[in-house]
Amino acid sequence: MDRQQEFVLRTLEERDIRFVRLWFTDVLGTLKSVSVAPAELESAFEEGIGFDGSAIEGFARVVESDMVAMPDPTTFQVFPFEGGASGESARMFCDILLPDGSPSWADPRHVLRRALSRAAEKGFTFYTHPEIEFFLLEDGPNDGSVPTPVDSGGYFEHTTHAVARDFRRQAVLSLERIGISVEFSHHEVAPGQQEIDLRYADALTTADNIMTFRHVIKEVALSAGVRATFMPKPFTDQPGSGMHTHLSLFEGERNAFHDAGDPMKLSKVAKAFIAGLLVHAREYTAVTNQWVNSYKRLFPQALPDRITESPAYVCWGHLNRSALVRVPAYGKPNSARVEIRSLDSATNPYLAFAVLLSAGLKGIEEGYELPPGAEDDVWSLSNAERKAMGYKALPENLAEAIDVMAGSELIAEVLGEHVFDYFLRNKRAEWEEYRREVTPYERRRYLGTL
Ligand code: GLN
Ligand code: MG
Ligand code: MG
Ligand code: MG
Repeated sequence: MDRQQEFVLRTLEERDIRFVRLWFTDVLGTLKSVSVAPAELESAFEEGIGFDGSAIEGFARVVESDMVAMPDPTTFQVFPFEGGASGESARMFCDILLPDGSPSWADPRHVLRRALSRAAEKGFTFYTHPEIEFFLLEDGPNDGSVPTPVDSGGYFEHTTHAVARDFRRQAVLSLERIGISVEFSHHEVAPGQQEIDLRYADALTTADNIMTFRHVIKEVALSAGVRATFMPKPFTDQPGSGMHTHLSLFEGERNAFHDAGDPMKLSKVAKAFIAGLLVHAREYTAVTNQWVNSYKRLFPQALPDRITESPAYVCWGHLNRSALVRVPAYGKPNSARVEIRSLDSATNPYLAFAVLLSAGLKGIEEGYELPPGAEDDVWSLSNAERKAMGYKALPENLAEAIDVMAGSELIAEVLGEHVFDYFLRNKRAEWEEYRREVTPYERRRYLGTL
């Protein structure tokens, strides 16, 4: 038993913790959990916990459905606020193994680990820092009716509406208590919309943190009698919830994106990385924006009173908020980074970080040239102007996104054959289900006139 494992067992005993939840994530990014008694943990560290993989989205391959969840003791965390009368609980993330001990081809955490180890071979560590947006809604039925936001606040508003402010306070305190550092939190543009930004960390830790974040936010909302949703676009006439993510590569202690001699302070590595993000953007969008609803956030055209800030065209810009990739204002050398703005809050963070990193690395390996940055508001250009400038549109809906992804060698390689095939099959089925549905829009539009 190693020191981390011993630490876990000792902490459980000292704090008299009765439940340990073992967490992992299915291919679509849903959190799965199995509770074990502390007495079982010693053997779980050695042999893992067996479960039926065929019951988990994307894990099934009928003949090989036995899988093993192997707890990662470095992710051990006590949840002080959840126990109530029954005492504290704790959780660990798991890696999923096949019965022979090799990593499961279906485990999103493994997909990310594999991409990270390719970066490590080149001497790079990948850091990410997400800005997570979501809506707080009044409790209500889940029957497709339009929900009611908890407040009518706007961007950075210091609302007197108690719910959102108290909620953010509670949420941030809860996150900090379990070791997830929050950098900023504020009210976002739409009524009921909130944003909480996590401090940067290596990508595997960030992905684990995002999964934990979603769980904690939902729990805090529940105890406040409201609902939290990470759905990308709950309201037709309001902006959606993005998860802008700041990306950087480090070589040891040094930020490999920084170059003091460059006018934008960006290194060659950073420029080739951005070029990779652009060249492969249409291929990875099905992963970063995986739901039918995701595309309603990316392509809302102009909203009634304001322009949206979600990107729909493949370009980059310095400070440009309509670009897919934005290079933020220069800061300290170690904070050099690029911000990708297409990701939404309902992505599977493991798969998303794996495809983004791999697209960027491809740019570095192949020495892709960075095209000129976009200076204008790309939204306000005409289609012809965008075409002349070479800005391609992101896929306009899930069907197009999966078609483009299906032809991508890069994404097939990054996800591995199993996850790649499963993902495409699952998403095609989602699209088919959606497109057969006759919507309220069509009845409003056609029933009386045709
Ligand atoms: N909600 C916007 C989006 O969908 C982002 C708004 C912002 O943070 N500037 O991406
Ligand atoms: Mg922000
Ligand atoms: Mg925001
Ligand atoms: Mg941002």
